[in-house]
Amino acid sequence: MSNVTAAEIAAAIRNVPDFPKPGIQFKDITPVLADPRLFAGSIDLLCDGFKPGAVDAVVGIDARGFIFAAAAAAKLHAGFVPVRKKGKLPFQTIEQDYALEYGSATVAMHVDALKPGARVLLIDDLLATGGTAGAAAALMKKLGANILEIGFLIELKFLNGREKLKDCPVRSIVVY
Ligand code: AMP
Repeated sequence: MSNVTAAEIAAAIRNVPDFPKPGIQFKDITPVLADPRLFAGSIDLLCDGFKPGAVDAVVGIDARGFIFAAAAAAKLHAGFVPVRKKGKLPFQTIEQDYALEYGSATVAMHVDALKPGARVLLIDDLLATGGTAGAAAALMKKLGANILEIGFLIELKFLNGREKLKDCPVRSIVVY
């Protein structure tokens, strides 16, 4: 449970127009992170329903996803596993391409990051088109993980990102 409401978190998210390029409204979460109550409450809301010991690992997506996933992992007494952009992880990796508006991108995980059957949460800061989280989930499945849920602090619902995450339960705290 959390003593923070989604409405309080929503009120702290800063909209930055035309960042990083014209036409994009960037959802700036740094005011949420800077507020001790809202940051802790965000983690509580993302973990709600999962008890310590019920999850083996929390996977976070490079880079803002790391912040929430790492805190959630500590709260749930689970390990933390990074999904990173291609070329950043030092050991042997598996990779997954996904489509961007123009071109494509690739995410990677270490080959030994998750054990087959591991009970895992995937967390990122924001669900837009779902390409990034879909690619991360594909990597986790390749390693044989059991994805219990995919959680986001923010969902841009009008972009239909959930369509790409159909076979997993999805939670989002603040929906636009
Ligand atoms: P997508 O793959 O389209 O779902 O995009 C999700 C990723 O892009 C997340 O890791 C977000 O951090 C980032 N992102 C996309 N759109 C925005 C936005 N409007 N504001 C902040 N971050 C965004």
